[in-house]
Amino acid sequence: MKIILLGAPNAGKGTYARKIKEIYNLTHVSTGDLLRNAIANNHPIGAEAKELIDQGSFVPDEMIVNLLKEELEKLEGGIILDGFPRTLSQAELLKDITDINAVLKFDINDEVAIRRGISRVICKDCGGIFNLLKLKPKEEGICDHCQGELYRRDDDTEETIKSRLKTYYEQTAPLEDFYKNLGILKSVDANLDMSHPDFKVIKNCQEILDKI
Ligand code: AMP
Repeated sequence: MKIILLGAPNAGKGTYARKIKEIYNLTHVSTGDLLRNAIANNHPIGAEAKELIDQGSFVPDEMIVNLLKEELEKLEGGIILDGFPRTLSQAELLKDITDINAVLKFDINDEVAIRRGISRVICKDCGGIFNLLKLKPKEEGICDHCQGELYRRDDDTEETIKSRLKTYYEQTAPLEDFYKNLGILKSVDANLDMSHPDFKVIKNCQEILDKI
């Protein structure tokens, strides 16, 4: 199974990808994580990537496609693509790289996305995602899963989230029609709290994925 998670920044793609990958035994490929790793490891593209990410802009297609291809060559089996494609040209390029079975589109209101983003903390070691309002770690500053240190992303400020939302509507939202026309777009309401007792969003995703 090869699926894409589509949705505005802070719709919960990373959090849900971590749950879905366990249920269906998939590999989670996040292009944002690939870029953050490249920056942390002083990769030659790191400086340019950091500047663009901190502005809430996209990195050039060629940069991200090369990183993604490199990563996919190392992998076997099913994948969840999180954060790619983000433009129509990336969607066209993806067609030449791999086939996709379904696109889960997470619907979220802007104010929920902003509130979530400014209260998000992430584990430096395992990438686990928490929220200081709705999905608190048991111990402040420490990851529940691996005891790693929690940090805030530099681009999780209100100003940058607003800029990322604008970029999303301008450049990524047209992908919804692109995948709708291919008959593989499925929408999921992602406004519910991630701590919702029965994790309803995941159940809704499962109902969709069990049919493909
Ligand atoms: P994310 O972790 O998915 O929120 O991505 C963080 C940032 O990385 C984005 O705001 C972009 O600046 C950059 N980025 C990630 N994926 C892509 C992509 N497919 N195309 C262009 N830029 C990307």
